[in-house]
Amino acid sequence: MEEKASTAIAGISHDRDLIINLDQGDPTLFEPFWKEVGNNATVVIPGWQKMSYFSDPKNLCWFLEPEFANEVLRLHQIVGNAVTDNRHIIVGVGSTQLIHAALFALASTEARQPVNVISAAPYYSMYSGIADFMKSGMFRWAGDAAAFNGDDNFIELVCSPNNPDGEIREAVRGNEAGKRVHDMAYYWPQYTPMRSPADQDIMLFTVSKATGHAGTRIGWALVKDAAVARKMVKFIEMNTIGVSKDSQVRAAKILKIISDGYELVDLKGGSKFFHFGRCLLVNRWQRLRQAVEASGRFSLPQFPSEFCEFFKEHAETCPGFAWLRCEDQTIEDLEVFFKNINILTRSGRHFGVGPEYVRVSMLDRDANFDVFIKRISFLE
Ligand code: PMP
Repeated sequence: MEEKASTAIAGISHDRDLIINLDQGDPTLFEPFWKEVGNNATVVIPGWQKMSYFSDPKNLCWFLEPEFANEVLRLHQIVGNAVTDNRHIIVGVGSTQLIHAALFALASTEARQPVNVISAAPYYSMYSGIADFMKSGMFRWAGDAAAFNGDDNFIELVCSPNNPDGEIREAVRGNEAGKRVHDMAYYWPQYTPMRSPADQDIMLFTVSKATGHAGTRIGWALVKDAAVARKMVKFIEMNTIGVSKDSQVRAAKILKIISDGYELVDLKGGSKFFHFGRCLLVNRWQRLRQAVEASGRFSLPQFPSEFCEFFKEHAETCPGFAWLRCEDQTIEDLEVFFKNINILTRSGRHFGVGPEYVRVSMLDRDANFDVFIKRISFLE
């Protein structure tokens, strides 16, 4: 975390000195929904509860709280974004820990050569760091999957919808003997139309991007193969001896509130989380597209409207990040350009492409987003 997120205060939001940090994807835009839910989402854990290391000793994932597992299954069922039958659920400290765990599980402790970890550019900027951070002898970052010309000894990280550009992706090296991890952090109805339930061998989800509770640090993996699931559990045992039960209880409550909003008919209409999120993002994307078009300096990816099986209507794709490309030849480095107007973004360089791209978070609070739109609208 390089810089603290800024908060624009009403009245000084036009202040040019105010630094707006849209570098990280901190999902605070969902706060108003949870404020509205109020005490219904409050969790109280008596001092004597949840003290043991163990949640469910008979489960392959012995530190998985059953109430959290049940709410995960229930929400996937309602949303229709993933097949959960015959899957092991593994809880992790965010999906970040699960990426580490999956790489550990898919690599071999016996191999002479580290397995190559690849992902198609532009790829999520953390993948390279995660793969190389421990200087493991088991795996190593090998860059852009499209440019990779090594053998079948690879693990492809497939992010869909993709961070940073929102694209729906298949594996680039799909038909080969290599292994794949599907990062589905953004496969939720507020971001993209629900096409059909994903049915991959290893799928990763996180409350950070599903509900906005990044600070709860809870992610989950749906894993087909028991041996792989066991190795992921082993990794988490060695790394953190399980995952906070307190956080799992909170995450269970948050998921339950969302599911109740769709299943309990007597709840008022305002309690439909995905409708709330979608409305916000559609509005932000419309404003951004207008401002970008008016500036004539940048462009954004275009997405076709598709039928969403969750909303039962055609829906636009509204990614959690804007992947801005510079069309102005006089600007060499778009991140530097934005930094000069006190907007922090993340350069395309971190995603395996050039400085003519930046990623901008669409997930910050309204006040910061408003300043961002104002600043790009009044560029000279
Ligand atoms: N995968 C992707 C594609 C992400 O964008 C993020 C969060 N930025 C993560 C994984 C990690 O999420 P967390 O550890 O907060 O669950």
